[in-house]
Amino acid sequence: MAIATESRGSEDKASAHANEEKRWVLSDFEVGKPLGRGKFGHVYLAREKRSNQIVALKVLFKSQLKQSQVEHQLRREVEIQSHLRHPNILRLYGYFYDQTRVYLILEYAAKGELYKELTRCKHFSERRSATYIASLARALIYLHGKHVIHRDIKPENLLIGVQGELKIADFGWSVHTFNRRRTMCGTLDYLPPEMVEKTEHDYHVDIWSLGILCYEFLYGVPPFEAKEHSETYRRIVKVDLKFPLKPFVSPAAKDLISQMLVKNSAHRLPLHKVLEHPWIVQNADPSGVYRG
Ligand code: AMP
Repeated sequence: MAIATESRGSEDKASAHANEEKRWVLSDFEVGKPLGRGKFGHVYLAREKRSNQIVALKVLFKSQLKQSQVEHQLRREVEIQSHLRHPNILRLYGYFYDQTRVYLILEYAAKGELYKELTRCKHFSERRSATYIASLARALIYLHGKHVIHRDIKPENLLIGVQGELKIADFGWSVHTFNRRRTMCGTLDYLPPEMVEKTEHDYHVDIWSLGILCYEFLYGVPPFEAKEHSETYRRIVKVDLKFPLKPFVSPAAKDLISQMLVKNSAHRLPLHKVLEHPWIVQNADPSGVYRG
């Protein structure tokens, strides 16, 4: 792919190969319709003129990044995401900047936000949920193999590609800054007990979040939802897991959720075992893509 070259700004002294790397400028792109709005700027559909490749151009305002003191975080996370290559992880092709803005050149996820789909459908079928959970488990295995913990797996951070495949977006730095849910509660719902209790955490946090996600896919709401934050905290720490009678969810799905939502992080079902779980094996589309 012609566009698959990382770009660094002229300030990057560490870049020994700076001369060989493409330095993008805004005029390399034909900017189209807005795709959405984030906390620090806008996302536009764009076409890279030479390759004709369609991308999503995320435009962040430096002033806002500075004000929120997230510049360093952005730099580090861009560095991480630009090196990841997995069908279920949104590609970051490169970045560039001018005096006032930072531009991220992202893979275009044609089918948009998973969160909107979940809101529209209320909850997903077992087939659809299992297909998504399997693809996320594979993406997390890849990430953990690269010593990257996502820490913020939730519907708002997932996009859907043109084939219907799930794409993990908003890496790491979204943990602290890009909370698309308006209330604090949205964030709390996916926090594992070790983060609620502020003890040390490691890659096992992503298994917990995958369990929360699986529940929310099937039931349409996260498992520890409560009116007050303190109550959500309490339910998370106690692992107060209840399975409503409606919608109907198979015992095998509940079994998988129960094995991921385990307080002792070392006892959570390892991701490769998630892929071998009978509910996943029976329900997930082997192509890894949910086609509706
Ligand atoms: P963000 O700044 O990441 O919160 O993005 C704001 C909105 O833009 C999202 O809610 C999506 O609707 C849209 N968006 C962001 N990135 C992409 C992408 N790569 N492909 C398609 N739409 C996107």
